Amino acid sequence: MDIMFNDTWKDISEIVIYGLGMVGKKYFDMLKKDFAIKYIVDNNPKTPDFYKGIKVISLDELLSVRNHEKIVVLASKEAFLSIKRELEQNNLTEYEDYVRFDDFVKDWYWQVKNKNCIREVHVATNTNCTFNCEKCNMFVPYYKSAVTYTLEEIRRSLDVFFPLVDFVFVLSYLGGEPFLNRELKDILKYTYENYHTKIGRIEIVSNGSMIPDVETLETMCQYHILVRISDYTEHVNYRKKLQELISVLEEYGIQYSIEKSLEWVDFCFPKKDEKFQLPIKDVRAHMLCCAPAFHGLNDGKFYYCHVAWSAEKAGLIKLSENDYIDLTNYRIDAENKRYLVEYANGNMKNGYVSLCGKCMGCGIDNHYVVPAGQQEERINHV
Ligand code: SF4
Ligand code: SF4
Repeated sequence: MDIMFNDTWKDISEIVIYGLGMVGKKYFDMLKKDFAIKYIVDNNPKTPDFYKGIKVISLDELLSVRNHEKIVVLASKEAFLSIKRELEQNNLTEYEDYVRFDDFVKDWYWQVKNKNCIREVHVATNTNCTFNCEKCNMFVPYYKSAVTYTLEEIRRSLDVFFPLVDFVFVLSYLGGEPFLNRELKDILKYTYENYHTKIGRIEIVSNGSMIPDVETLETMCQYHILVRISDYTEHVNYRKKLQELISVLEEYGIQYSIEKSLEWVDFCFPKKDEKFQLPIKDVRAHMLCCAPAFHGLNDGKFYYCHVAWSAEKAGLIKLSENDYIDLTNYRIDAENKRYLVEYANGNMKNGYVSLCGKCMGCGIDNHYVVPAGQQEERINHV
């Protein structure tokens, strides 16, 4: 469903960004290419006074200096709800004074710039991993035989997807552990050389336990790839290897970030917490509460939920045809292009993804928390 932006949103060239947490930092550079950023609002007292040359101020300060600039809120779903309350208490109105980044990407770019945009798309390179995390959201421990995508297979997915969209803010390659895929450098090269004008940033998500070969390192440097390292050293003994990777990335001038989460939510699928209650009553509301920010692109199909793709690939469920859009038979016209973006934002014709009825997801209605990266013994599937 489109949100209508009124005329005051037309021709904006200057914005205020609200939020300098993980989401804010992730998309900041891309917004900075399209807009002059007047201020960044962040209420964390530990945030420095300037970020990349832009002054960081509190909401109170913004209220005293704001001159009708529009505010784009970059925050997680949970943080957005409290920011929204705070803004409304100060008589600022959604879609008038401020907007959530996801709605800005989906609707502002469409209505004002005529650009069909998606926030984040994930492409799996392989499903084998150097780790075996018990609560892996790609279900790595459950694969009886791992899947490795070839350059040719990934090329086919990209080639049916990109004619349908104008811009993807982030395209991430992930596994399993993507550095296990021997064609990774060719995949990155193909992606950049053919689609970099339609991608804000190409990323690789790695657990930091492998050192890529020289050619892959050179390719990552040449094509400005960001390596997002998930640090699981609390549960896996690989500090030395992680440090070695960081040194190598620095040596080659490759951008990287390190994310250390101590907790994950437990999807309670396929194993259920004993307190977990089925069935989920309003499945669509539950799905929208989870509302994954990233979507999957594999096998020429576009998935609202990448977790659902992996659950099927690991042999845990059978998805219905309504759980994805098969792009190999998808007409390229204006209606279908727009439907793809609406679908990515949860506005699918059939209402919800079938797995949402069995999966607790990562919305605020899921209170089951587990330590991040806890390892499970490998099962030798026969
Ligand atoms: S590091 Fe853990 S969470 Fe990440 S893909 Fe491997 S098994 Fe899954
Ligand atoms: S609740 Fe639905 S959308 Fe969220 S992770 Fe589970 S299957 Fe995916």
